[in-house]
Amino acid sequence: MLDLKIEGARVALPGGLQEAAVGVEGGQIVAVEALLGAAKRTVDARGLLLLPGVVDPHVHFSEPGRGHWEGWAHGSRAAAAGGVTTVVEMPLNAIPATVDVDALRLKVAAASAGSRVDYALWGGLMDDNRAELPGLHAAGVCGFKAFMLEIDDGSFRYAPDHVLYSGMGTLAGLGARLAVHAENSALIHGLSRDLRARGRHDPAAWLEAHPPVSELEPVQRALLFARDTGCALHLVHLSLPESLAAAAAARAAGQDVTTEVCAHHLTLTDGDFLRLGAVAKCAPPLRDPGRVEGLWAAVQAGTVDCLASDHSPAPSADKAGDDIWRAWGGINGIQLTLPLLLDEGVHRGVDVARLSRLLSGNPARLAGLGDRKGRVAPGFDADLVLVHPDAPWTLRADHLHSRHPWSPFLGRRFSHRVETVWRRGERLVEGGDLVPGVAGGLWQRPGQPAGTPIA
Ligand SMILES: [Zn+2]
Repeated sequence: MLDLKIEGARVALPGGLQEAAVGVEGGQIVAVEALLGAAKRTVDARGLLLLPGVVDPHVHFSEPGRGHWEGWAHGSRAAAAGGVTTVVEMPLNAIPATVDVDALRLKVAAASAGSRVDYALWGGLMDDNRAELPGLHAAGVCGFKAFMLEIDDGSFRYAPDHVLYSGMGTLAGLGARLAVHAENSALIHGLSRDLRARGRHDPAAWLEAHPPVSELEPVQRALLFARDTGCALHLVHLSLPESLAAAAAARAAGQDVTTEVCAHHLTLTDGDFLRLGAVAKCAPPLRDPGRVEGLWAAVQAGTVDCLASDHSPAPSADKAGDDIWRAWGGINGIQLTLPLLLDEGVHRGVDVARLSRLLSGNPARLAGLGDRKGRVAPGFDADLVLVHPDAPWTLRADHLHSRHPWSPFLGRRFSHRVETVWRRGERLVEGGDLVPGVAGGLWQRPGQPAGTPIA
């Protein structure tokens, strides 16, 4: 007898949305059929969408070291409430940054104690840790992240060109992918200094310090370096259709390059940022409406591989005030990614199954988890989300499970609502509310059973 049977939903399958029954046993999907036999529990899901749990390839939970910014317990609650059943967590914002195996152990310890969703982990590439890359790779990071933009994190440092280039050479030898934050450091920091010297600290100054070319030039530089070294490249949070076109051209020429676009770049504009200020500050910044439409055209055209939140909260006081340079540059978004992108995508005629592929299947493959995560198919983990496509609601701060419930989307009206979420067959969300007391998120490594300790 099945543990669980979900009947009557329209299911996101490779061929598109199709009505089917999904059977679950022992935490795995065992059947996707027109009709199924008896089950211990049957869920009548008529009128609802059944999607694979979202695999968010880009989150910052900032623990260990900065758990007061978010932490695994709060971050994973927000994830679960938003239909995200696996997160791929970035090496920076935590202290220490995940740049050697000892730091990876601390990250795994924090995550295993606090996370209710499954997780994979990125390692970091920075100036003086190139000798650590093979060890991190062997320990099970799913890839590496580098910053082309100089940042002042205290624990994580950027990769100037020679580090980026030589690091790519090492990673090519390991067969590991490098994710890059592509922004031109000298240009942005120089423009910022000039603007500050002129007394500018308004939101428009942030936009002026990050002109589109400050993304496009380093995207092209990263593509050239990756081509020259043979390194697989992943371009995170692209904010310009021009960047996606550059990546698509490189891919057409045979390069291994994947792309990511974030929900906030698809659902907010530079005009929203000028109106909202610090709460909507991010890097690269929000762009003009024409570029937002261009990003959606790229989603439709198939040149966007992954959709992500780049969930990066900080205490509320750091997301307020009149000095745009002092405000934290990050968006608190993981809980809203799925409803935002379903609302906006469906409105633009994007097929739900395509959105689901970009939210689940592709990020799972990017993280090396394509054998178990990101699809509604027999043999895959029963990470499943039921979404009501027409249950209007308006976002209030008390809906947010993040430690600091600020959001540029407060007051926004949504149509899609996350109803029920299962992680490996266990219910995390029921009737739109978190199920209390659930923990047990497991580390997911490429080619290793979930939860295996570091050797
Ligand atoms: Zn990020």
